[in-house]
Formats: sequence, C-alpha cells, structure tokens
Amino acid sequence: MSNLFYQGRGRKPVLDQARGVYMWDTDGKRYLDGSSGAMVCNIGHSNPSVLAAMQRQMEKSTFGYRLHFETEASEALAGRVAGLMPPHLTRVFFVSGGSEAVESGMKMARQYALATGQGSRWKVISRQPSYHGCTLGALAVTGYASLSDPFAPMMRPMPKVPAPRAYLDGLDPEDEATGLHYADMLEAQIRAEGPETVLAFLLEPVGGASTGALVPPAGYMRRIREICDQYGVLLIMDEVMTGAGRTGRFLGCEHWDTRPDIVVMSKGLGAGYMPLGAMIADERLVEPVLDAGGFAHGFTYAGNPLACAAGLAVVEEIEAQGLCANAAEMGEKLIARLHGLMQKYEIIGDVRGKGLLTAFEFMSDRNSKAPLPREIGAYQRFVDIAYERGLIVYSRRTHDGYSGDHILVCPPLIVTEAHLDEIIDGLDRSLEQFT
Ligand code: PLP
Repeated sequence: MSNLFYQGRGRKPVLDQARGVYMWDTDGKRYLDGSSGAMVCNIGHSNPSVLAAMQRQMEKSTFGYRLHFETEASEALAGRVAGLMPPHLTRVFFVSGGSEAVESGMKMARQYALATGQGSRWKVISRQPSYHGCTLGALAVTGYASLSDPFAPMMRPMPKVPAPRAYLDGLDPEDEATGLHYADMLEAQIRAEGPETVLAFLLEPVGGASTGALVPPAGYMRRIREICDQYGVLLIMDEVMTGAGRTGRFLGCEHWDTRPDIVVMSKGLGAGYMPLGAMIADERLVEPVLDAGGFAHGFTYAGNPLACAAGLAVVEEIEAQGLCANAAEMGEKLIARLHGLMQKYEIIGDVRGKGLLTAFEFMSDRNSKAPLPREIGAYQRFVDIAYERGLIVYSRRTHDGYSGDHILVCPPLIVTEAHLDEIIDGLDRSLEQFT
C-alpha cells in the first residue's frame, strides 16, 4: 500500500517521462496528453528553453522571501504579464495556484471597498455551475454543490446566477437577446441582494471543467460590464484555465468587448513547470489599498524566483512560437473535426469551445438535450477507455444536479495537424468502443 493518497482508492500508472505532447509511463506505454494535464501544460512538456531558464535561476537562488527581497525574476515576469493585459491592469500579485489567485482577487476587491468607504459591499456573485477552486473562500463562489455542500457550515456560500447555457435552454447563442436574457439575471440578483451589499461578479470567460468549454452568448460579456458599472460592482475575470493563450488570445476575455477590474490566472502561466498564479488588478483599486496601509494578504511562496523564472520563460515561449495564433488555428480545426464525430455518433449532442478549450457532450437525445442516465457514469467510462488507448482527455460531469457528461479536449497549444489526426483517431476508436 502506498502512503500517498488523492481522491479515491484507484491507482494510476507511474509517470516516467514527458516530451512535447507525449508522456510515457514506467512500463514504456505512450500517452498523447490531450488535456494538457488539467489544461495546464500549454507549451508542452520539457520545453528546453524553460528548463534552461530554470537551471540558470536555480544556480542563482531558489527562494527569497517577498518581505525581505525583490527578485529580478518576479519583477521581470510582472512587467511581462502586465504588458499582456488590457492597459488599465498594471499591478501584479503572484501566488502559487488558481485557488490562491481567486482568493487574492476577492480579497483585493474587498479591501478596495473598505479603503474607499464601501464597507457594506462583501457579496461576490458567481455562476451556477462554475468552478473557482477548492479552498474554502474559492469554494464559496464555486457553483458545484457536491464539492461545496459538505463544507457549507464552515463558510458563507455566495449568491449564484445561472451560467448562460443557451444550448440546454433551447436559446440561440448567436442572438444578442440570449446574452441579454442571462445578463438580466445578474441584474435581478444584484437588485435582490441589495446593490450596496454586492462587491463583485466573478466568472470564467469560457467555462472550464464545470460547464465544459461554454462560450458566452452574443451580447453577454458587454452587458454584464454595463450592469457592473451601473451598480458599482467589480468584475473579476477567472482566467485560471483560459489565460496564457488557451482560447487563442492571451486572455479569454479579449474575445469580447468587456473590461475586467481584476484578472486571476494560473494554470498556463507556470504551464506545469512550477506552481504559479497571478492576480492582476486595476491601479485604481490597488492605490487606495496601499494608501490605507497595504494589502493584508499573501502566501509564503508568493513571487518565488524559480517559479517566476519558469513563468517568464513560458510567456516568452508563448510569444516566440506564436502559440496564441496556433491555438486559434488548431482550435478551429479541432472543433470542425469534433463536429465530424458528432455527425458519426448520435450520442454526441453538442460540440463547443474557443481556441484549444474544446468539449463535446454526451446526450441521450439531441433534440430534447436529455442527458444520458446518470447511472451509466458515461464521462468516467469514456475517459477510461480513451486512457487505455493512450489518449488523455479530461472530464467532470456537468453538475448542479445532473445535466450531462462532457469531455474536454484541450491539448497543448503546440499541437500540429498530425497531432489532431491522432487525437481524432483516438476519440473515434474510443467512441466506437463506448457506444
Ligand atoms: N478557477 C478555475 C477556472 C479553474 O479551472 C481552477 C482549477 O481547475 C481553479 C480556479 C483552481 O485552481 P487550482 O486547482 O490551481 O487551485
């Protein structure tokens, strides 16, 4: 018996090596990493430039506590990241992961409210379903009942509005009226809570594990910004999964006419080389907080020079290799190929996504959008079949009650058409076995 445990009793093969889009276990079996781990390894595994940058940093220093030293690596990465944000997002606060980034964004918003005489504002409205992390603060804004319910007595669950799942509600996602319909629900929620109590609205620009690559309907992103402005509510964009090029732009929200007050990032920033995340805030928020005595928040490993050196090299690779553009181009091809599978397999009821954040969803009836019976455990069975065949894809059941099973197909942004052929072939054979 191993001393190690994660979620269940099941054990996985032991990882030996990983290069580019491939991984090998200690038995020599090869896997194509069709989910970049958990949408993390955006630039592929074992990138030599990143390894060299880490080696150089390791030879200089591996830790400098942020209250004792600045480091060149964290300064350089902060500058680079700020340069990739919308112009008003200039201030960067480093953390070690997505949940930490979300917590930091919410606490920055709250401290800004306190520093500007808006102490009545504390509620962070988020969406149902959604995933924003597993620490208690991030869980309070996560719309995923089975994860948060057991801990409800230990935290203060925050208000939720429905995620804009137009495809399930029989609405046309291309029609602006659809976007306005869902945005209206945000406005109604703010009014019901009492606008003077609402601090922020938190959302993923393109849904991740919770909604399976849900793309917002036309008009939605613009309208939620207007509503936030109208009621003095801050807009926090959770780019933990979408950031660092995953959707074909450096930030997912760049696809729409919107302006976040705070962006939180993680996964693709460290890209699996080091634990790293960032909260990037509007100067307008940060200055009053600093004037009022400082940001009362921070993690021991924040701004770790080795993590920042790795992150800087990752961002440089994203730019040097044109990986945002490749994600956009390959993503379009991948979505078209997934539509091809949908034509062949009746069980696929929807295909969606942006860039290389793509998904398909199993349904028992395409017209009614009825899910497969829950007992089938479809998503896990399918993921296991593909894994056996050496193709790694990712899934969580769409939750908040049971509304279906989606499979995320999110390979590293370095994929070529030949890799896409391999992924589609693996999915095709797995679907054949599954159905
Ligand atoms: N936010 C989003 C959108 C995520 O997808 C995740 C992780 O999947 C998180 C936050 C939490 O990140 P972490 O698991 O690094 O704490």
